Order: sequence, then C-alpha cells, then structure tokens
Amino acid sequence: MSELVVEVNNLSRSFGKTKALDCVDFQANRGKVYGLVGANGAGKTTLIKHLLGLLRAKSGTVRILGEDPVKKPASVLKHIGYLSEDRDIPDWMSIDELMRYTNAYHSGWDQSYADELLNTFSLDPAKKIKTLSRGMRAQVALISAVAHRPDLLILDEPSSGLDAVVRKDILNAVVRTISEEGRTVIFSSHLLEEVERLSDHVTMIHQGRVTLDSSLEMINNNHHCSSIRFAEQQHTPPKLESVVAISGEGRFWSAIHEGSTDSFGNTLQKIGGEIVESRHATLEEVFVSKVGREDLREQTQTIEGAK
Ligand code: ATP
Repeated sequence: MSELVVEVNNLSRSFGKTKALDCVDFQANRGKVYGLVGANGAGKTTLIKHLLGLLRAKSGTVRILGEDPVKKPASVLKHIGYLSEDRDIPDWMSIDELMRYTNAYHSGWDQSYADELLNTFSLDPAKKIKTLSRGMRAQVALISAVAHRPDLLILDEPSSGLDAVVRKDILNAVVRTISEEGRTVIFSSHLLEEVERLSDHVTMIHQGRVTLDSSLEMINNNHHCSSIRFAEQQHTPPKLESVVAISGEGRFWSAIHEGSTDSFGNTLQKIGGEIVESRHATLEEVFVSKVGREDLREQTQTIEGAK
C-alpha cells in the first residue's frame, strides 16, 4: 500500500461569504498520528468532511489512498473509520445491535477487539443507546469507529464528552494501537496538551488557512520560550526577527521564538540582551503565538461549556 494515505492539494471551500478553507494542502502518511488544531470555526470539520467525501472539492483535489472519495465512495470508505463531532448513532438500538450493524458494513470487523474495548469502558452490550450518558455514547461511537481496524481513522473532537481518565488512558491506547499497526489517525482537538501527547504531526488551521504543518519533533526543536535580560531598560518590546510573541517590561522579557537558542542568543547580544533561561515552547504557546490569545480563550470556553 502507498505510504501516502491522504493527499489534499490547494483545497478551498466557501459557504456564502465565509471562506472555510483557503488553498489548503495537507498530507498524511501511513502509521502516523496527525493532530488538527484550530479555534472554533477554523475549518477543521470542513476539511474532514472533504476527506470523507461528504463535501465535494469545488476547487483543489482530495485523494484517499489515491482515490477521490466523492467519485469512489465504496472503495474509499471501506478503509476509513470515522467518529463525528456529534456522535450520530441510532438511539433506538442496543449497544450490541449497533456493534452487529456496524460489523455488517466492515469486512475487517474484529469482534474480540470490540469486546475488549466494551469491557475496558465497562459498557453493558444489552443497554439501549438512548439510556447512555454523553460520555458513554462517545465511548460506543469510538468503538464502532475503530473495531474494524481501519487504514485511516478520523476522529472529529474525540475528547468531547469523555472524562479526563478516559481521555488520557483509553483514547491514548486506541490511537496508539491503530498507529502501531501501521495505520493512520487524523484527529481534531481543542485540547492542545492532548494533541501534543498523541500526535506525530500537527496541522494548525486558522481562518481556513494552514498556519503550521510540521512534525511535532520539528515544532519542538524549532520553537523555544526564553527568559531574557537586557543591560538597559527597554521601553517598548524589543523587535527581533525570530520572535513570534514577547511580553515583559524594563530589563526582563519572555519571548517565544523560532530557530535555535544559539542563534537567538547571538542576535540578542547585538542589542544588549542575553538569554537567562530557555526551554522548548509548548504547543499551546506556539498556538497562541500563531493565532492569538483570544482564539485560545475562545477554545477554552468551548471546552468548559462542553464539560
Ligand atoms: P469547531 O472547532 O467549532 O467545530 P471547525 O474548525 O471544525 O470549528 P468548521 O465547522 O469547519 O470549523 O467551520 C468553518 C467555517 O465554515 C465556520 O465559519 C462555519 O460557520 C462555516 N461553515 C461550516 N459548514 C457550513 C455550512 N454547511 N454552511 C454554512 N457555513 C458553514
């Protein structure tokens, strides 16, 4: 099978005056976990819908394992497991009925894996879906998306509705199992700490445009948070080319900057400053520096509201 599982080129999509996707390029390789991050309305779900063939590419191209998901839905969808943001699973079925129903769609359904996950979540297969809590529904939906061990697993906000333990332990295990088997996972999340923990690669979308698309390792190596000290008081934030965000006052400042700390230190020296302490920036700090604190606040409020 080709290494390239997803290939999106120059994809744009507007809804009326809203540009949901603007010239987006995105690629996903076999065996890797891709985190899609962005504030509310950034365009993540719109991109996912194109991958699933739920939206037709009006401008640009989308290929899953080399095929167009709109023109070849049957051959594309059999390789995909999908968990939607709103977990649209039939209320009137029992968990067991849903498992058998989903099984019928997928030749590779692994009932022992489904049973193992049901057991891990302590879910009673005889229970009707309409009687389940929001978190339990999320768990059932997750099992039906992964139990056929798809080549490509797409999870839209898999954490919403899941409690912290389930998020940390189970989601982690499910995502890792799939990728260790050489399968690909793409998931969107508002939880940057979770994206940082689970992903090999991060794609940041802001107002329909990709603002960062890189392996997590590269992001870590290329973004630092440094405390800096100047010999003289600085009355305005010092202007340095590699700095993406800076705060502080007087002689003491804190900067998120790109590139190596050595070259940043050299540049600082020329304007009378020095690095006091430096560490890798967190994904949250990189996000804030790229899209702004307001967008992070907006995201945090969404998460609080969903609890
Ligand atoms: P969230 O994190 O809130 O789910 P998102 O990143 O998934 O956001 P999208 O759902 O892709 O964002 O939406 C991108 C933009 O396109 C938003 O401005 C949204 O209002 C708009 N949009 C999406 N779908 C439609 C639609 N069917 N009709 C009109 N506007 C839409």
